[in-house]
Amino acid sequence: MEETKINAQPIDSKIPEGPIAEKWTNYKAHQKLVNPANKRKLDIIVVGTGLAGASAAATLGEMGFNVLNFCIQDSPRRAHSIAAQGGINAAKNYQNDGDSVYRLFYDTVKGGDYRAREANVYRLAEVSNNIIDQCVAQGVPFAREYGGLLANRSFGGAQVSRTFYAKGQTGQQLLLGAYSSLNRMIHAGKVKSYNRYEMHDVVIIDGRARGIIAKNLVTGKLERFAAHAVVIATGGYGNTYFLSTNAMGCNCSAAMACYRHGAYFANPAYVQIHPTCIPVHGDKQSKLTLMSESLRNDGRIWVPRNIEDAKKLQSGQIKGSDIPEEERDYYLERRYPAFGNLVPRDVASRAAKERCDKGYGVNNTGKAVFLDFSEAINRLGIDVIRQRYGNLFDMYEEITDVNPGELANEINGVKYYNPMMIYPAIHYTMGGIWVDYELQTSIKGLFAIGECNFSDHGANRLGASALMQGLADGYFVLPYTIQNYLSDQITVPHFSTDSKEFDEAEKRVQANLDNLMSIKGKRSVDSIHKELGNVMWEYVGMARTKESLETALTKLKELRKEFETNLFIPGTQEGMNIELDKAFRLRDFITMGELIAYDALNRHESCGGHFREEHQTEEGEAKRDDENFFYVACWKYNGNDETAPTLIKEPLHYEAIKVQTRNYKS
Ligand SMILES: Cc1cc2nc3c(=O)[nH]c(=O)nc-3n(C[C@H](O)[C@H](O)[C@H](O)COP(=O)(O)OP(=O)(O)OC[C@H]3O[C@@H](n4cnc5c(N)ncnc54)[C@H](O)[C@@H]3O)c2cc1C
Repeated sequence: MEETKINAQPIDSKIPEGPIAEKWTNYKAHQKLVNPANKRKLDIIVVGTGLAGASAAATLGEMGFNVLNFCIQDSPRRAHSIAAQGGINAAKNYQNDGDSVYRLFYDTVKGGDYRAREANVYRLAEVSNNIIDQCVAQGVPFAREYGGLLANRSFGGAQVSRTFYAKGQTGQQLLLGAYSSLNRMIHAGKVKSYNRYEMHDVVIIDGRARGIIAKNLVTGKLERFAAHAVVIATGGYGNTYFLSTNAMGCNCSAAMACYRHGAYFANPAYVQIHPTCIPVHGDKQSKLTLMSESLRNDGRIWVPRNIEDAKKLQSGQIKGSDIPEEERDYYLERRYPAFGNLVPRDVASRAAKERCDKGYGVNNTGKAVFLDFSEAINRLGIDVIRQRYGNLFDMYEEITDVNPGELANEINGVKYYNPMMIYPAIHYTMGGIWVDYELQTSIKGLFAIGECNFSDHGANRLGASALMQGLADGYFVLPYTIQNYLSDQITVPHFSTDSKEFDEAEKRVQANLDNLMSIKGKRSVDSIHKELGNVMWEYVGMARTKESLETALTKLKELRKEFETNLFIPGTQEGMNIELDKAFRLRDFITMGELIAYDALNRHESCGGHFREEHQTEEGEAKRDDENFFYVACWKYNGNDETAPTLIKEPLHYEAIKVQTRNYKS
């Protein structure tokens, strides 16, 4: 990447002027809207049916637009969003513990290490309360207090309880709510649902997004769809790392298709590594399991105080429950007294790595720490703890054969229960398609919502804020902002798909599939993907250096060659061919991997989930460089996957929040 490629031209992000507290309300009031009678003349494609896509498709249908909604899965109910366990944030202040819209806004900006766009985050905090009302009205069974009020718990980076939850299945319940609304609109004829369809390309006509080419995953055929606007809601790119907590189907191909057409990709280096996942246990694994952050409300994280105890744990001579209280190092409580076990994920992950790197890891690989409920069970009783986390305990037991609610030892009258073993893993991606304040990408008529855009989380996302953002985008923000674009599109008639632009797009997609099938090499898609994951984790993972990132870029170029010359896909293009579908996505993961490395190499500072070893404080904390890196890094495609992308900077402007060093100690 050459320095000469850097273009410091700021992007017009259309952020309104004025005091931040009035922004979204005023903005909406001044915005152009589509006359109700004209809405039925306008078609909108929504790609993806996770919480962002399903909520947007349902709401746009409800408003009167004609919506075409695409979903890889056999039902929108099976989108990745159902995996979300712990909860969704909102500034309701039901606990009367001092929460407010401003506090949620402040916590989110601080949690993101002052790298988010301030105005977007303020809007997010403002609409957070509406989301809860909307979901309650849909019948989402949030947990309730005895008196009937909705219950809350705490997530990382906050000192208040503002997380609404439905046991450990919050995402699933929220998705069922959105899905009910979506179904109503399907029944009303306002949404047409295309299940088992995968978008392969976006069609641009006269500089505007006017349709997509999608593959019917059952017949294997390519089909064309036209619309006045296209909304991408296809989730994050965590599976670039192969092993992640994301669903196996999560991919970044739709985002990469937009990127190749010139949509900027923002902050790709901001990848979240979640501290509480079940550790990797071998090289035959294809998936990692998250143990929800909600567990850190009552669970305490520790490693042995003495290295000898750690060695005995590693060789299997003793168990965690054999180590008494006074020999345990609750290192998060020790290092961060104010937030303790509820520090943000980037901080907790680095602290776990630091302990394990020093030899204090507690499993046979030395790469795990304990998450322990003994104190909470002794204080509250197992019934209360099971009520809060029962399904998570069951999940842990099913995978590891260890029951964290089981009494394991008693030392000097203190009861010790089996601790869980956890280790950081790739979980969420804060970077994504660049969008302006209206959630429009740098291509007109192309919008991006939910995890696939970059907008709200800066360099680190706080727990329970992804669902909040996805639903804010889908239910409340996009349905307004897209009208600003569509209001002057009502004179544009429905598009035909028989145009040269659709012909060319379909030919391009077909040529790509033909090319993949023709390689006829020796390696399976998964074996190459696993190698990609190893490179990414090793060199672009939790700790990055200039050298490691340069090595990664060299290795990724070699891997692309290997993919292009030695890939093997069994079967044919006709009908269902899952290996072909995976190969299509892997090509984009390789490009994505390079993009992450380019961005990480450019950002000579540590912030949030992006940790450059060269830039840390004496205590090992992330050290930002606000003077030189207080910007969103937007990457522009340069015509082919091999050429380095061009950097364009969107400077950040903060008017309400003072930019300072993050402090979770006091
Ligand atoms: C284990 C786990 C637990 C989590 N827990 C929480 C939590 O408690 N609270 C919280 O706030 N967040 C949580 N998150 C994060 C949160 O679940 C996600 O960020 C969020 O659900 C993303 O929603 P989305 O709609 O943007 O994308 P997704 O839910 O990923 O949906 C994207 C959809 O697009 C489809 N798609 C992708 N590509 C294409 C294509 N080319 N064509 C057609 N369709 C396509 C996918 O199949 C999918 O249906 C968790 C994440 C994980 C992995």
